[in-house]
Amino acid sequence: MAGRLKDRVAVVVGAGSCGPGWGNGKAAAVLYAREGARVFCVDIDSKAAEETRDIIIKEGNMAASYTADVSRGNQVEAMVNACLSAFDRIDILHNNVGIVEHGGVVETTEDSWDHVLSVNLKSIFLTCKHVLPHMEKAGKGAVINISSTAGVRHMGTKYCSYTSTKAAIIQLTRDIAMNYARSGIRANTIIPGVIHTPLVEQFYGGYSQQERERMIAYRNDQIPMGRMGDAWDVAHASLFLVSDEARYITGTEIVVDGGLIAKCL
Ligand code: NAP
Repeated sequence: MAGRLKDRVAVVVGAGSCGPGWGNGKAAAVLYAREGARVFCVDIDSKAAEETRDIIIKEGNMAASYTADVSRGNQVEAMVNACLSAFDRIDILHNNVGIVEHGGVVETTEDSWDHVLSVNLKSIFLTCKHVLPHMEKAGKGAVINISSTAGVRHMGTKYCSYTSTKAAIIQLTRDIAMNYARSGIRANTIIPGVIHTPLVEQFYGGYSQQERERMIAYRNDQIPMGRMGDAWDVAHASLFLVSDEARYITGTEIVVDGGLIAKCL
């Protein structure tokens, strides 16, 4: 089924990737474009946003790139206006941005807590605040927010600010879904599990090849399906939720984790 997003405009926030390869946001942006959407690729890193835009254009599809720190209200407002100037409308809002800072409540500094909450959670409040009125005027729209299994289970890592934001994203999305259900706007959350992306590769960067292989084998082994997911697994679930095939689905979550949270950890 091709052309599932024909005539739609998608804003993908965090459309770049932090390193070579396929990140969740980059894969979603490219997949939406393959299905016919014009994609507004937003990232704090201009080069990363441009790289995704160029991949889309090279494949013969339509995209523009834009640089913004989406934890800042004025930059989000300007981003929305820029998308409307470029493409006239916004049908899909995909919030992919998420950062990790390690530590439990005692080790985490107040600045770190505030930073992670701003980037991971306030950014979604801000993008929705500025995009929803336009979707409401159009009488339709779809929002995807990217959470994590760390928002619903303890994953064995100390990163309390990250887990708190990922849990809050689920309820914020339900709140949006309930408030806009009668306006033709759907909002859903994707809950990825352990996904092999450049973000993960960046983390392995400081280790020897042998250590890296040991850690990858450990991550694969944790998953009932025996392997980490990849960015396309997350992108395909997102595509389903923003397409008309999911027209009766709102205020819910799709878990993309190879069975991880169904397992008794
Ligand atoms: P990614 O490679 O880090 O891409 C995200 C992009 O967002 C990066 O280019 C990053 O730029 C950018 N960004 C960071 N802060 C920003 C801000 N304030 N404003 C605008 N852009 C900003 O990550 P990904 O693979 O696409 O996926 C990340 C999402 O998946 C996160 O929400 C994460 O929690 C979720 N997730 C990942 C996994 C996993 O195992 N990989 C599992 C569960 C959930 P910089 O590189 O310059 O920071």
